[in-house]
This record gives sequence, C-alpha cells and structure tokens, in this order.
Amino acid sequence: MNKTDLMHYNKDELRELILSYGEKSFRADQIYEWIHKKLVSDYSEMTNISNKLKEKLEKSHTICPMRIKDKLVSKKDGTVKYIMETISGSIIESVAMQYSYGMSVCISSQAGCRMGCRFCASTILGLEKSLSSSEMLSQIYLIQKDMGRRVDNIVVMGIGEPFDNYDALIRFLRMITDEYGLNISQRNITVSTCALVDKIYDFADENMQVTLAISLHAPNDDIRKTIMPIANRYSMDEIKEACQYFIKKTGRRVTFEYAMIDGVNDSMECAKELALYVRGMLCHINLIPVNAVKERRYRRTRSNRIRDFEKYLEKNEINVTIRKGMGKDIEAACGQLRRQYLK
Ligand code: SAH
Repeated sequence: MNKTDLMHYNKDELRELILSYGEKSFRADQIYEWIHKKLVSDYSEMTNISNKLKEKLEKSHTICPMRIKDKLVSKKDGTVKYIMETISGSIIESVAMQYSYGMSVCISSQAGCRMGCRFCASTILGLEKSLSSSEMLSQIYLIQKDMGRRVDNIVVMGIGEPFDNYDALIRFLRMITDEYGLNISQRNITVSTCALVDKIYDFADENMQVTLAISLHAPNDDIRKTIMPIANRYSMDEIKEACQYFIKKTGRRVTFEYAMIDGVNDSMECAKELALYVRGMLCHINLIPVNAVKERRYRRTRSNRIRDFEKYLEKNEINVTIRKGMGKDIEAACGQLRRQYLK
C-alpha cells in the first residue's frame, strides 16, 4: 500500500484524521507538535502517544517525505549545501547560509524547472516534478536539525519556479509561519519569481507580509526576451503594474534581482533604462554577478563595471546592493550540483 504523508496535513486536517481514528483531538495537537515543532522523523520519538495509535498511523502514513543524501560545507564561509532526495527519488538542493544576524535557508520549490532561463542550470533538463508543501517544509526541518540552529530566514530561491507550483507554495508558507509550527515570521521570508504576472496578483491578495523578489535581469523586453523565454508571455510593463498592485496591497518593498551578464545587460545605457523603469517605485535592486554555468556561454560582468552600474543607480536615488556570493567553493549556485548528481 502507498503510504500517505502525515506532514502534509495542516492542524485542522490532522484533527479530523485523528478523530476518525476514535481518538481525542488533543492527540492531533500533540502529534502536530512532534512533527512541526519538535521535528521528529520517526514515530518512536513521540513519547506521549500510545503505541496503539502510533502503530495505526505508521501503517498508513509516513512522517518525513525527504532525506539528506549528501552535503558540502564551504571552507570559506560555513555555507552548507544539501542534496536532498524525495521518497519518490527526485533530487533537489537546499542551502544554509550563516550570517552574523542568523541563519538563512534557501529551498527548492520544484525538481527541475520549465521556465528555460538561458543562464540557469536548474532548467537544462526541464521540469521533473513540483514539490509538495511538505517536501518544502521538510527541507527546513532537516536543515534546522542538522545544523542544530534555528532557521531565521527563508528564501524560496533554489531550484524551480515557486509560482509554477502556487498552491503548494502557499500551503507551505501558511504552515511554516503557523504558531503551532516553527512560527517563522512572514517578514523573514522571500519568494523569488521570474514574474508570472497573474500569480503576482494572487500573491498580493493572500495578504501576507512575505517579501516578493522579481527576477528582472533586463532593462527592457528586447533584452529580457534573449535570456528569459517567459518575457514572451509577460511584458515588463505588465510586471511593473503587478508589482505596483503588490506594493499597494501589502505595503512591502519589492526586490528586483538583476544578474549582471557580460555584454548582455550591463552597459551604462542599460543602467539608465533600468533607473527609469523603477523610478518612483518602492523597491530595491539586487545586482548579482552571474554565475558561469558550464553548459551556458554567459560570463559575469567585471567587478569594476558592476560597481559603476551600482553607482549610477545610487546617484539616481535608487536603493541598490551587490549580492555577496556565498559558498563559492561548493557550487552553491542554483541547480549546478543537482546536475552533477543526475549525470
Ligand atoms: N524561478 C525563480 C526562483 C529560483 S532562481 C526565479 O526565477 O526567481 C533564483 C534566482 O537565481 C533567480 O533570480 C534566477 O534568475 C537566479 N539565477 C539563476 N541562474 C543563475 C546564475 N547562473 N547566476 C546568477 N543567478 C542565477
């Protein structure tokens, strides 16, 4: 028999299940706490639950949909890259980054991706499967346990397009921020998207205080189309309008990610156009030196040019930072390690 995944159940659903077993609802609350607060991965650890109930549950339900298959630790900055495997055998990556202010974890939302961005390693073999909400939760739980340290920040910036897996993403966000679970503050979570415009509107209407990061990577549609196929579906004007709706609805600043690619989007002309595009918007631009991917021919912009680009934006009173690379010695860039594992 195929077991169902107990981690998938939210608090109300778990109560219903446990009641259907003829047990009291507080048992469900205890079990929920074992899974989502105490992060156990085995029924035997649930010391206040009767063996009878545990045996019943174990017959039909697994409690951990993921396992750590391998990990790499950066000697430079302590960044840890995890290779995880789902029960069904899909491989994904997650990363733990340690900063002075806390630990930040980057999780994957899909195994593979179908967005086709030309500079990205995650999309080369297309989409294998979308992750369930519990497979996203499990990445956080396993890392918190393995690192022995509380996860403070979450970025959904690993493999996959989170808005191409919208319902599972929202369920994940609701459960990870739930007071009966890890209770991570919405403000400490960032979701990054290549800008599926319809979903930006839906996301704004969820009334969450989660940060939205948009992978813009270009100052106009023509350049964007050469590196991101999604640009053929949604224009930058449509993206801007959706972002303005998000800002109005949530009061939150939007982040624009801009991967600097040598000779593609890094001219002063591009900086000017980008400045005009974001003018007057409550936003922040994050310049990212593109990571060279073996299978791709793109190279990063030289550091002094990135700084000139930054200076131009600053002069125009735009909030801008250059992303600090973490874990450079362990191929921490999105999707590169999974590729090696699939080979
Ligand atoms: N699909 C989502 C989230 C996952 S990708 C998105 O597009 O936002 C996370 C970020 O890494 C995105 O901004 C993506 O464009 C960027 N990225 C992908 N490959 C990269 C590379 N080789 N170098 C630098 N950034 C890259």
